[in-house]
Amino acid sequence: MKNSIYVLIFILISCQNKKNPEIVSLLANAETSPVISEDDAADDPCIWIHASNASASKIIGTDKKNGLVVYNLQGEIVSEYPFGRLNNVDIRTRIQLGDSIVTIVGASNRSLNTLAIFSWNENSEKLESILKEDLKSNLQEVYGFCLYYNSKEKELFSFVVGKDGNVEQWQLRLVNAKIEGEIVRTFSVGSISEGMVADDYHNNLYLAEENVALYKYSALKNADSSRTKLISVHDKNMRDDFEGVTLYDQGEGKGYIIVSSQGNNSYAVFDRETNNYLKSFSIGDSEEIDGTYDTDGIDVTAAFLGKEYPEGVFIAQDGANTQGKDTLTQNFKIVDWRRIKNILD
Ligand code: CA
Ligand code: CA
Ligand code: CA
Ligand code: CA
Ligand code: CA
Repeated sequence: MKNSIYVLIFILISCQNKKNPEIVSLLANAETSPVISEDDAADDPCIWIHASNASASKIIGTDKKNGLVVYNLQGEIVSEYPFGRLNNVDIRTRIQLGDSIVTIVGASNRSLNTLAIFSWNENSEKLESILKEDLKSNLQEVYGFCLYYNSKEKELFSFVVGKDGNVEQWQLRLVNAKIEGEIVRTFSVGSISEGMVADDYHNNLYLAEENVALYKYSALKNADSSRTKLISVHDKNMRDDFEGVTLYDQGEGKGYIIVSSQGNNSYAVFDRETNNYLKSFSIGDSEEIDGTYDTDGIDVTAAFLGKEYPEGVFIAQDGANTQGKDTLTQNFKIVDWRRIKNILD
């Protein structure tokens, strides 16, 4: 009897470890330098597209124990900002606000329980302070964060969600070259939520309730809290937590929504218009670059980033970064979009 229980346990473990054949394993093209902080530290990336020299575009990532880190596309650190416990980060590049064209980088600051909003100087490639005064959240503790630009109204917003699942939508106005913020909408998701992305074209907010599902809400400031469920964490090829959410923007409202299915180390791709689930992929080990494990934040761009990445890149945080037999601090992996496109066709 005892032996048969051991056999059963062994079979169960083997089944669990067996790779799901429906999840396609891809390889990373590059990885960033490890972050300074130990343990769970790297969290969420965003991508700034250089206006005239695409291959000089930059990745801005959070080290959630230290601040922001800026990398080039080779993954080398070009600057660091020890602003505090910045958790999630997002960017809107060269948007019109008032009479100005500005690039805005925003993050949730858990040290101060604020929204940290900066302008990105397109020439010096430095973050500059642009807030008139601190934007103190009423949430118990700010956690997930994303920006939303309503291009029709030329209005900028940020969404911030706390660990209790309460969401604040802030309108960010540029007044006398300074950003002022005001809460224009609040709603409750139900439980812990973090990953979010706004679809500026369709005015939608995609939000991952970590232990439950991926949803679509309206991003409009006067909308109610009704939502559509895209997929549950228990559906086929999914495993909780759901973490980072991002959008591949092909223009004219077309593209893909991607969520980090952290529990099985994979990324699920959905059609942006129909919201149909299409495919899941993972990032496996190559000889030079280890794959991703336990991914938090992700980001993606469809922009031309030079000859190496003509259709953009996908960036994923790696919760367990190794180099041969050595364990390093966490980092971000960079994947040529064409590798993902190949599995979607
Ligand atoms: Ca983590
Ligand atoms: Ca989380
Ligand atoms: Ca996270
Ligand atoms: Ca790894
Ligand atoms: Ca590595």
